Amino acid sequence: MDQNTFNTLCLQQLTLSGVNESETVAILSQGASRASYADAFLWAAQQLGASAYHLRIADAAPSSGAWAVGSSGLAEHPLAIQALKEVDMLIDLKFLLFSKEQFEIQAAGTRILTVVEPPELLGRLMPTKELRERVEIGQEILAKASSMRITSDGGTDVTYELGMYPTMTEYGYNDEPGRWDHWPAAFVFTGGSDEGVNGRIVLSPGDVLLPFNTYVQTPVELTIENGFVQDIRGGLDAELLKSYIETFNDPRGYGMSHVGWGLDHRAHWHGLTQFGGGMGMELRSFYGNVMFSIGPNNELGGPNDTPCHFDIPMRNNSLFLDDEPIVVKGEIVVPEMRAAGR
Ligand code: FE
Repeated sequence: MDQNTFNTLCLQQLTLSGVNESETVAILSQGASRASYADAFLWAAQQLGASAYHLRIADAAPSSGAWAVGSSGLAEHPLAIQALKEVDMLIDLKFLLFSKEQFEIQAAGTRILTVVEPPELLGRLMPTKELRERVEIGQEILAKASSMRITSDGGTDVTYELGMYPTMTEYGYNDEPGRWDHWPAAFVFTGGSDEGVNGRIVLSPGDVLLPFNTYVQTPVELTIENGFVQDIRGGLDAELLKSYIETFNDPRGYGMSHVGWGLDHRAHWHGLTQFGGGMGMELRSFYGNVMFSIGPNNELGGPNDTPCHFDIPMRNNSLFLDDEPIVVKGEIVVPEMRAAGR
């Protein structure tokens, strides 16, 4: 994508996010990554009359290669943290999510938008007010529920007790102080109560393993007791999943984390075939997916801050809140939450 086109996308984004001449926007990047993103956001903020600067930190030391969440690289830069707490909006080009520094910056009132996906995807899944509305309707419904049950033809039957953790939204832009979002995104989620998740999840071919960025080929059966995965069975996919989690040497990697459903009719289930190197936001967002995750729940205010995290969007699942159907075999059945024409 040429820089002018990308500039225009970032201007659309910051306009949706309510950036204006009274505001200061900081853009955070690391090493040589996403320099063109920083340029585009600086240009866009300037068009809106905001004050903007780019804060760039050095590359991190080489790590294990695994996707370990929660380490922001900011801990050794207290002055940078201080500066980011003072701005209205932070564009995060390095992925701070799950770090205590991110939570600290949000708590100071800074709104944060993570932007790490390829420009083509940012353009195709540009957020809209309609999408936000749909996600917020989902939030309202989910926040009132006291239990969630997920089933599938493959054999999934799992129940989450709700009520302990807040319901959160991601719709791809951010105009609320202290809130976090990720561009692109369109889903709603909460977490099961500690020890309140029980049952069986059977992953079927075509379900998605993030951060492997792969599609499950053979069924994987997870047995869940009291909020933890106790057993993982199946073929190659099951072995890869177990082997990866074991490298973290942290039993909390088996904890049940956020759970919810996707709402963007423009997002493709087959998205990883086009953007294999991205974060998989398209897969988290595709319309009617039911996504559960394992690992940390500190994003929801919970005690688990393990760096081992999986997001697993599933196709053709059904999701019930207090026995009311919300998603049936991959289709949203709540009229106010449906996309036009679906
Ligand atoms: Fe997640």
